[in-house]
Amino acid sequence: MVAVYQAPLTSEQVKQKALELGADLAGIADGAVMNDHPPDPEHPRRPSDLSDFDAGRVIVLARRLNLGTTRILPWDERHKYYNDELAITALEETALELVLWLEDQGYPALIVPPSHVDPWRYQGDPGEHRSPLLSLEHAAVEAGLGTLGLNLQLLTPRFGPRVTLSAVLCSAPLEPDGRMEQALCLGPSCGRCLLACPGDVIGHFARDWPACDRYRSPHGFAQLTEFLGRVIEEPGKEAQKKMLRSEESFNLWQSILRGSGVVTGCRRCQDVCPVGGDYEALLADALEEIPERTPEKEARLAAMEKEAAAGAEPPGYHAQRRWIGELPDREET
Ligand code: SF4
Ligand code: SF4
Repeated sequence: MVAVYQAPLTSEQVKQKALELGADLAGIADGAVMNDHPPDPEHPRRPSDLSDFDAGRVIVLARRLNLGTTRILPWDERHKYYNDELAITALEETALELVLWLEDQGYPALIVPPSHVDPWRYQGDPGEHRSPLLSLEHAAVEAGLGTLGLNLQLLTPRFGPRVTLSAVLCSAPLEPDGRMEQALCLGPSCGRCLLACPGDVIGHFARDWPACDRYRSPHGFAQLTEFLGRVIEEPGKEAQKKMLRSEESFNLWQSILRGSGVVTGCRRCQDVCPVGGDYEALLADALEEIPERTPEKEARLAAMEKEAAAGAEPPGYHAQRRWIGELPDREET
């Protein structure tokens, strides 16, 4: 009975529609495969946790970030936050239009946004790293859009890591895309993301996520609660008022208004990555030099290179190999 209202649909039609609606990249992952391979088995976040009926396929959408703001060097430039927030908003609209179109074809669908976290997992600690409902980076790899890099950021052949992601779940009988087998990341012999990272939070296929969050979300919930705590503790009403009128307070207010500086923030690791068809032609002239480079970071990278050359498998790579792919460094050994 229901099938009468379901138009025949191919994967190509769905991806073409996503591109027409504004996505720059689109791929389709198999929800059952993702259920069987949660990126963090101790805290699995699977498509089937989000919908019992409509999570058979995960359609992953990517929209590129502006290159003009990528060419601005300071990580904490508000133009960067604001432009990225607009890209997220535009992709959310694309995702919503795609959901409505799929439903017109007879397939109920829902959006998994990149920044919404599961409130049931919040433990009362604003500084704790909170993950979104589904890892869209891992979903993007399963959908054939790219592979993960040294700091576990998504790398794509066209735009490198300079994309924002969204996903649509539905159970239309669509042919899934295959994963890329070879890593796009150049490994520690590149290491530009590590050298540029202002928080120095990048390891060997690993990232200190809570430390990164202070930069990725510089005016987020942790900073808001810290600021308000300091206001409460400040003796004297005049001093409290002065804090409420301060630049820090102004930045928090601006960020709450639009989400820029909350759902967007540092992306120096994305800016400087040489992977992507856009890098050489449009970015290298501005980004080749890395002012955040230090002898300590260089020494750490050299140690990683030595480890890779000896054929050692760092724990971060072992845990994420499915999504990182086969590395050129390791193949040479
Ligand atoms: S977002 Fe910023 S702090 Fe986090 S890993 Fe990238 S460069 Fe480092
Ligand atoms: S900057 Fe280099 S090491 Fe880092 S993710 Fe990109 S290719 Fe890999």
